[in-house]
Amino acid sequence: MAKSSDRRRRARSKSCAGDQAQPASRPLPHPSDPILQTLVRDTTTRLIYGFLFKRRQNPPTMVEIRAFLARKLGEAPAQTDRRVRDLRDAFEVPSEYLDGGYRYVLRGWRAGGPLEDRSGISGRLRAEVLSPQRCAQCGRTPLDHGVVLVVDHMIPREWGGSNERENLQPLCEECNHGKRDLYSSYDAAASQIRQAITYDEPHRRIGELLKAFRGDWVPGGMLGVVASAIQYQEDWQKRTRELRTLGWVIETQKRRDVAGRIHTYYRASHWEPWPRGDIRAEIRRRERSARSA
Ligand SMILES: [Zn+2]
Repeated sequence: MAKSSDRRRRARSKSCAGDQAQPASRPLPHPSDPILQTLVRDTTTRLIYGFLFKRRQNPPTMVEIRAFLARKLGEAPAQTDRRVRDLRDAFEVPSEYLDGGYRYVLRGWRAGGPLEDRSGISGRLRAEVLSPQRCAQCGRTPLDHGVVLVVDHMIPREWGGSNERENLQPLCEECNHGKRDLYSSYDAAASQIRQAITYDEPHRRIGELLKAFRGDWVPGGMLGVVASAIQYQEDWQKRTRELRTLGWVIETQKRRDVAGRIHTYYRASHWEPWPRGDIRAEIRRRERSARSA
């Protein structure tokens, strides 16, 4: 997801300290290792690291992490989900469905090393993304509304989103924070979303993304990015509608921002198993038989 300006500042001060990549095979630091204090500044987040480290062979659920913190601190702190996500700036911590629940697995160093060393967005790309000078979600501008714009990843990094231009958009800080809060409630779906991006057929990428949101609204921009993840899809809206031919119920909702621009959101309130064989061919076959009926 987007980096706040705060994180960018940290990125700058961090890179002065040297930005060599951490090989993935490098052993994880022991929870008592002082390096953790530079990598993970929040003490509660470091406690979570220690717990995940101890439970590497038997990864805990979010409920277990909260219960652990409640035991340690006397009360469960707020924003445990966010703290676990913060660990992903430096470490690979996927949530995986195991033994009837989503479990948080401390697997290793983040590929390529801590995020601060590899934000990978050049100043030029950042300037290009921010050049519309308007929040892509609410439409407010720095000039007219005094908002601060940041570079946002439409598909968050931890969900497999890339640093490519098409996955980046300008958001005001307020929309960016709102999006972070909203998306943290889908964190358990992160592995499904990462998987959705890898399917060959665009229909399937779109459908799997809608399923991962379990009937909630998905911004069209995100569907467009996922649809085009393998190969650019000019008409991803049509691909989305075509899922209806397979028996899916897809609803759309238009939302207007302050600049009067319309944004379309999609949700699947019912879905069907994928047909065996080629999805596109099956859609064409059903369209033909509907026309001849
Ligand atoms: Zn905004």
